[in-house]
Amino acid sequence: MAARRAAGLLPLLLSSPSGARIPLRRALSLVPSLRSYRLLSHPARSFSTSPFSASASASNGAAAETERTRELHLYNTKSRKKEHFRPRAPDGEVGMYVCGVTPYDDSHIGHARAYVAFDVLYRYLRYLAYEVRYVRNFTDIDDKIIARANQLGEDPFSLSKRFSDDFLSDMANLQCLPPSVEPRVSDHIDQIINMIKQILDNNCAYVVGGDVYFSVDNFPEYGELSGRKLDDNRAGERVAVDERKRNPADFALWKAAKDGEPWWDSPWGPGRPGWHIECSAMSAHYLGLSFDIHGGGEDLIFPHHENEIAQSRAACCDSSINYWIHNGFVNVNSQKMSKSLGNFVTIRKVIEMYHPLALRMFLLGTHYRSPINYTIEQLNVASDRLYYTYQVVQLLVAIIVSPRLLGAHLRISQVIMLLKEGRSPTLGCHV
Ligand SMILES: [Zn+2]
Repeated sequence: MAARRAAGLLPLLLSSPSGARIPLRRALSLVPSLRSYRLLSHPARSFSTSPFSASASASNGAAAETERTRELHLYNTKSRKKEHFRPRAPDGEVGMYVCGVTPYDDSHIGHARAYVAFDVLYRYLRYLAYEVRYVRNFTDIDDKIIARANQLGEDPFSLSKRFSDDFLSDMANLQCLPPSVEPRVSDHIDQIINMIKQILDNNCAYVVGGDVYFSVDNFPEYGELSGRKLDDNRAGERVAVDERKRNPADFALWKAAKDGEPWWDSPWGPGRPGWHIECSAMSAHYLGLSFDIHGGGEDLIFPHHENEIAQSRAACCDSSINYWIHNGFVNVNSQKMSKSLGNFVTIRKVIEMYHPLALRMFLLGTHYRSPINYTIEQLNVASDRLYYTYQVVQLLVAIIVSPRLLGAHLRISQVIMLLKEGRSPTLGCHV
């Protein structure tokens, strides 16, 4: 049973950083050479870890994969129901855009949850033999980055680069495959300015001084994703309310430069993009105005994704995204995680003490749309499960690599029992 359970995990756990699925035998043969980690729940034991390897060979099962029935149902936030996934181009690439981080501090377990969830979706789509173009951005210029850089006396781009690199290292530790493209806002100012021009041309935005605002009153579909009515909207959640707005729910597409802030030239004077426009512009640039999947945490449904839809459709009425996918919140000890409550848990803090895959196992132990409650006890449970899974993997290695060592008189169930007791049936010593 345990071996069957372990084998069931293998399609998700065993693949190379390039995403190529590798033959079981090859994957298992990697296990004994892996690094050791100490787990809090098993302080006296070393722990052999990830079978992921950059040297893993490419998949040899392509023919078999093409015969697989590509059944996938996804809950679509927009329709509020599960839908059979059908890509726009059945024989082409699946386009998937997931909102990335604003790198002004260490990434937290809420980020880990989102990107592990979409990593599983990315892997699963590839497992179903789809070609996937996965885009995940960096918001490398933003109010929070500027404020933190000023606080530390650091250049904003140097600060965002530093935390972007740390984020990528966290993602590698969590065995998240790198996306196909990881665009940064500062490299796409031209695309952003062009999209704002289109929105202005279509009479869905207005200029006030050096600022440009989106006019929600001129976009009747506003609120369709989140189900909010305009009267319910609370403006100024991310920035202070600007009294020059025609409607308090209008949001900035372009912000006039302030002293000491980075800026770019534009038709409206020097300034920088508002937060939401970057994702509309970069997703259109890399995936086209219409694509398959757009994802992120459920806190992004409003206002960020609602605003993205409005901008993209105001720029081009043919724009459409088929599936809007959102993951649930992470609570810490049953409280909302926030800096003000002092319960902010970073990925780095967790993987100082636990194997990164224990965190991944914990995050995947709850359905991706449900809230997940982070506690040390639950992390210990995930760590234990991972530990025993790898014990079984090591057993399978022993069976495949040196079947004679097992001894003909032992059944698999007996071997697993010995492993659970901490004794190796193959070597006659403690594992
Ligand atoms: Zn976004």
